[in-house]
Formats: sequence, structure tokens, C-alpha cells
Amino acid sequence: MVHQPVRQQSFAPWNDPEARPLIRIEGVSKSFGTFVAVDKVDLDIYPGEFFSLLGASGCGKTTLLRMLAGFETPSAGKIFIDGVDMARIPPYERPVNMMFQSYALFPHMTVAENVAFGLKQDGLPKPVIRDKVRAALELVQMGPFAQRKPAQLSGGQRQRVALARCLAKEPKVLLLDEPLAALDKKLREQTQLELVNIQDRVGITFVMVTHDQEEAMTMSARIGVMRAGLIEQVGTPVEVYEYPATSFVADFIGTANMFGGVVTADAASHVVVRSPELERDLSIAHSGTLPVGAPVTVMVRPEKMTLSRDEPAADWNWVQGTVSDIAYLGDISIYHVALASGRRVQVSQTNLRHGSEQRLTWDDVVYAAWHPANALVLTQ
Ligand code: ATP
Repeated sequence: MVHQPVRQQSFAPWNDPEARPLIRIEGVSKSFGTFVAVDKVDLDIYPGEFFSLLGASGCGKTTLLRMLAGFETPSAGKIFIDGVDMARIPPYERPVNMMFQSYALFPHMTVAENVAFGLKQDGLPKPVIRDKVRAALELVQMGPFAQRKPAQLSGGQRQRVALARCLAKEPKVLLLDEPLAALDKKLREQTQLELVNIQDRVGITFVMVTHDQEEAMTMSARIGVMRAGLIEQVGTPVEVYEYPATSFVADFIGTANMFGGVVTADAASHVVVRSPELERDLSIAHSGTLPVGAPVTVMVRPEKMTLSRDEPAADWNWVQGTVSDIAYLGDISIYHVALASGRRVQVSQTNLRHGSEQRLTWDDVVYAAWHPANALVLTQ
């Protein structure tokens, strides 16, 4: 059964100056020889938060996660968990548990024995172990599979057992390294929601590493977008998608049409940008001020544009071109529009109707237009 995430909309401790972070990362760097894998990262993660570190391969996200777990030592900076400096605390004494991509289940043990393993090592009494194993397996809906061996389970079931094993130990923080990478797309999407629901129920802080932006968007309360060892932006999924702080984030999260230009006018409600790539000016609604002459990038998401065969009446915010490619994805179609300048623009349109009546097609001359409130000016 697929549950919808029930995370409270009001959960935003990062906006509360009184809130105390559970994890505080202060100026943490990690070098391997001369190579800087993590570069002076500052980050606070709050109790009960589902936080994702998102970035391309090699950006340093796993290294940062491993430093939280204690498997790597920072070259500089400090990590505090629940107010305690982790510098001298070995991995097994930290209030964290890590779920590995490979799940690392013991093949010769049953599901129940796998979940019980860490609890036995902690020397807990047998009845306590039995209760905790039962509760953890129920949480991930694997109770009926308690006596099976890992080889008798599907990938998704193994993933749930690995999760149960981590949760049974009731860590303050669960670290997840690409937890769903081994699952196929459909199962991954279903498991994403299950994982969010479980996190919501147990209230444990989750820190997940992923390179999959959709996964990070679906699951996280906040996302830290990493590039080359640096955190470029920390924000809610809505913030990083709708208000990316840099061109890199705009491009990395989703698809973005970006137009380079300079500011030619700055009014109270909007800014005007001239882009050499476009025939018409860009008008962007904004709340700050920008100096005339400043070089900027204007970003418009494909779904924020409309596509039509009719020329818009406005003097700004539209381009004319020909449809050069169409990607039909069922629910939406993505139109690639080639402008006279050679520039290409992507516009996505929801396929509201069956059939192809009135549908735009290859080589049609079209106009892509957007509202000033649907574009964003980026200065970095
Ligand atoms: P991926 O998604 O591919 O796992 P990542 O963002 O998690 O990537 P990291 O594993 O953190 O990346 O690695 C960051 C960089 O540090 C990479 O360039 C990697 O080659 C390098 N690196 C990681 N561990 C070591 C090590 N033990 N020795 C030398 N270089 C390392």
C-alpha cells in the first residue's frame, strides 16, 4: 500500500532561532592528499528532520556522511551530535546508525536474526530483543517474513529488513547512503513514500545521500545541494526548485532555461534584462534591487512557459521559434524550440486531452511566453 507522506507542513525548526540542532557541522573539511573532497562545510540538521545531501558523483556527499558516522576523520572543523563533540568518539559509540547501499545483510541468518544482531551485540536481554525485533519488523511490514533468509526476499524486502535492523537500535540519527539505488523505478517510488512515513512515525533524524534529485525532492524536509566539496544551497524542496541560489543549483535541480544578459532597468516591482540571445527584453518580478549594467542569468522553468501558435501581445518575455523536437512522456510533452539565434528553449506542456487535435508538432512556428513572476534573476 502506498501512503502519502504526512509530514507536518509546519515542521521548520531551521526558522526558529530557539531551536537546537541535533547535528552541527562546523567548518568541516576533508582532504585526501592534496585533493579537497569536502571544503569548509557549515550545516545544522534538526531533530526529526529528513535531510538529504544531493550532488553529482564525486562531490563529497558520501565523505561528509562517513565523517558523521565516524568512518572518516575531518581534516579540519568539528562535528557535534546532540551537543557532544564527536572528535574522539569512535563509530560504535556514536548515536548514529548507517544503512549501506548494499544493505550488508548476513546471508546465513534469518530476517529476525539479522535484525536482532546489533541488539545481541549490545547485550540486551532476550525478551527485550524479541520485542524490539518484532516492533521493527512490523514497522517495515516484514513481520510475516521473519523466518526467511535474505536470499528468499526481493530487493525491496531486503531493503526494508536493512532498515528494520537500523531502526531496532533506536539511533538518534540514521545515515542512509543511496538507500534505494538497488530498486527498480516503480518500487523505488513506492519505497520513497514508505520510508518518509516510517521516518515520520519513529521521529528519528534521517540524513540521506543521493544523486537523484527527484528522490531528494520527494523525501526531504530540506536538501543540501553539493558541488565540488561545497554546499551551494540548503533549502526545502520548494526553495531549491523555485528559488535556486545559483545557476548551478537551478541547472542541477530539474530543467532550467537560462538566459545570460545585463540589467537595463530596475523598477520597484520588476527588473528588465537584455539578453543578446533573445530579440525581446526580459521582465522579471522581484523584491530586491539590482544595479543597471549588472551581469545576470535569467532562469525560466519549462513548465512555467506556455506554448502557442499565436504571437503574444506583450513586449517582453516571449520567444519565437520552431519546434525541433518533442519528447512525449505521457502525462506531459517536452517541446524543444529552436530560436533564430540558434538557441534552444525547452517548454513542457501537460497533455490534458486524449488525441492529437490541435497538438503542436515538428517544424511548427511557435511562441513560448511566460509571466514576469515565473522567471528568476540569478547573480551567481
Ligand atoms: P558518489 O555519488 O559517486 O559516491 P560522492 O559525492 O559521494 O560520489 P565521495 O565518495 O564523497 O563522493 O568522494 C568525493 C571525492 O573524494 C571523490 O573525488 C573521490 O574520488 C575522493 N575520495 C573519496 N574517498 C577517498 C579516499 N579514501 N582516498 C582518496 N580520494 C577519495
